Amino acid sequence: MAQTALNLGDNTPKPTFGVFRWWRNWVRPRATNRDEAFRESTIRVTVAILLTATILSFLASLPFFDLQGGLVSYPMLTLLAAVLTLASGIAVARHALNTAGRFLVLTFIVAASGITIIDGYWASLVLPMYMLVVLITALVLPRSSLLPISWVSIILFGVIAVLQEDAGRQLKILIEEEIVVAATDVIINVAFLVTIQALFLRQLRIEFDSRLAAMSESVQQAEQAKQEADRANRAKSEFLAGMSHEFRTPLNAIIGYVDIMLSGMAGAFSEKQTQLQTHIKHNASRLLGMINDTLDMAKIEANRLEMHLSQFSPEEELRQIAESMKSLTDKKQIELNVLTLPDLPPVVTGDLQKTQQIFTNLLGNAIKFTSQGGVAVYIGRKDAERWMFKVVDTGIGIPEEAFDQIFEMFQRVEQGSAKYEGTGLGLAISKRLVDFLGGEISVMSRQRAGSTFTVILPCEVKEPELVSW
Ligand code: ADP
Repeated sequence: MAQTALNLGDNTPKPTFGVFRWWRNWVRPRATNRDEAFRESTIRVTVAILLTATILSFLASLPFFDLQGGLVSYPMLTLLAAVLTLASGIAVARHALNTAGRFLVLTFIVAASGITIIDGYWASLVLPMYMLVVLITALVLPRSSLLPISWVSIILFGVIAVLQEDAGRQLKILIEEEIVVAATDVIINVAFLVTIQALFLRQLRIEFDSRLAAMSESVQQAEQAKQEADRANRAKSEFLAGMSHEFRTPLNAIIGYVDIMLSGMAGAFSEKQTQLQTHIKHNASRLLGMINDTLDMAKIEANRLEMHLSQFSPEEELRQIAESMKSLTDKKQIELNVLTLPDLPPVVTGDLQKTQQIFTNLLGNAIKFTSQGGVAVYIGRKDAERWMFKVVDTGIGIPEEAFDQIFEMFQRVEQGSAKYEGTGLGLAISKRLVDFLGGEISVMSRQRAGSTFTVILPCEVKEPELVSW
């Protein structure tokens, strides 16, 4: 139930208004390089805000158009700014980042100069506008543009201020009352503040750029090291996977010869000799098991797993394996029960050999780590598309902090490793196989109470898509 509710919650589309969706889509940078993506998103955000502001301001000032002095007026200035911003927006949409940046900086220079012309070089808005020119340059253009653009702005401002002061004198506007501060004073102040801001921002950009370069270099080095390690690991795994035949054949031969001796076909042996042969067989079988695990893992690591799909009855196949392991539980005097839940699909499509291997590993572990009580296997349906089996035991259990770790290679829980045989590969192999089949594996356990391993598999396993390296 909880799962259904969760799925419903996840699938419900979040309500988004058209304008928000448009905004999110517009400000999302398309460049993949981090530095470019930063500049691009700054340009995109600024263009969107500026375009809205200039268009609104132009529309608002239209009724007073005539009163504001025709060409040299705020409506004309906002219109010009809107056109330049639009040009920047078109350039950024076409991935011409530098052109877009230049248009944006030009918009700010035009706005700052326009305000100076309209309001006079003494107006309070003038200095912040020139400082904005420097700020936007630092954000959207290469570092080398910062000082030249600051100087261009200062020169522009200086020329306008000197001309204004001159015009004021010629028109006999009362300098002392209307133009309170002399142009040179203002120019010096603006030049000083704009330059010092440009220098500070340049310092920041140098630091930012060098950190970015160092970071990209270490990411590249790590990537290279990883690729090399992967290549070496694959070579090792491929070697091992290729050697599987060579490793297994002599061991199988040893086991086969001992079997012949034990069967009596090679003549009679004394009780002591038979005991020794049993030891040889036990140890050779153990070694074969460990080699099989190692080679299976190597095969998985070398990406050499192949899918062999067929139809089979989960109940029949798992019961058969449990049956074949009954002798182990009998020897330990513990119970082994297999319970089939009523809605279990009679036939599924999957990789039988891999499903058997997963089940054998889990059941083998359950028996190995249980000395009292017993082991129960439940086979049933998980949902419309998936079936599952659970292996429940009353064994030594697993501490919660080791739940993830036991699915990794060669990881064994401390208290288990000394007393019980094993390689620490069974669960790692099982997990990789379950993943390969598109399923899930999980564990629940309490120490000294027992463990439950659950495997969920698709009723129709699909052929994997080709993985390219
Ligand atoms: P192995 O059994 O060869 O050591 P596995 O990968 O199969 O390797 O298991 C890893 C570890 O997980 C085991 O060493 C053991 O500590 C723990 N474990 C697995 N299954 C059980 C279980 N049913 N009960 C208790 N511990 C378990």
